[in-house]
Amino acid sequence: MKNINENDRYFYTSAKSCPFECSYCFATLPNFSDDLGSLQELHTEESIISGPRVIYPSCDSEIFLSNDLVRTLDRITKVEKQVVVSYSTKKRLSNKDLNMITEINEILNESSGFIKVGISITNINSIALYEKGCAGFEDRIENLLRLAESSIPTGVNIKPILPFISLDEYLRIVEHTIKYCDRFMLGDLYIDESTSFGKSVLSEYPGFITTKSIDWLNKDLKVKVYSEGEKKHKIQKSILSKGGKFFESDLSLINDIIKYGN
Ligand code: SF4
Repeated sequence: MKNINENDRYFYTSAKSCPFECSYCFATLPNFSDDLGSLQELHTEESIISGPRVIYPSCDSEIFLSNDLVRTLDRITKVEKQVVVSYSTKKRLSNKDLNMITEINEILNESSGFIKVGISITNINSIALYEKGCAGFEDRIENLLRLAESSIPTGVNIKPILPFISLDEYLRIVEHTIKYCDRFMLGDLYIDESTSFGKSVLSEYPGFITTKSIDWLNKDLKVKVYSEGEKKHKIQKSILSKGGKFFESDLSLINDIIKYGN
């Protein structure tokens, strides 16, 4: 399978909203969701033949892993097109979810594609505070274990690296997850300035704030970003010292799976 480039990506959302309440969610940023596509757009003949090669069912997407997606992928892979689905979640995966992930993987495997499941872990001890409704840490580890047992490609998304979480807690995340997954995606915190969480990050960490464009949206959306280089660097070092790999983007992690296998 050939490497995938940025223009081959497709982000879609659905009418259903995410059931979780992460304090740092940037899906609520003004203009953000307006720019995401819909699953229906992938059904056109043109899209099936020359459309995207990596499909993102939005964040956090267990409600978007639907039978509709299965049918769409079935049609896309019939023309022997290699497609990757990149799905990320903070939920506890049920047997039904795992069955659907396995079914999607089998469909995609027919034309050398695959589904990659990103298990998002931003902290261990403050989930009830920052990620209301999401699975606990142990359940996310269990997700990684069960996905590994089913030979589904995975990644651990340490994204966003949060300001209120200690380096020690991040090092423990690496230590606990690397037994089941050696690919990590690290990412900065995009700030929604209208929320109390966003306001507190801006006021308490002024030295770590920059402004960036979100390049994968059609619109030129600029956001404030919290990025603490030294903390990130120490997490990267820990991953490397334990034999893992880290990536700055989901696409580079996917291309690594394409190059070296699961
Ligand atoms: S899971 Fe994703 S979309 Fe849902 S609230 Fe959290 S950050 Fe937002």
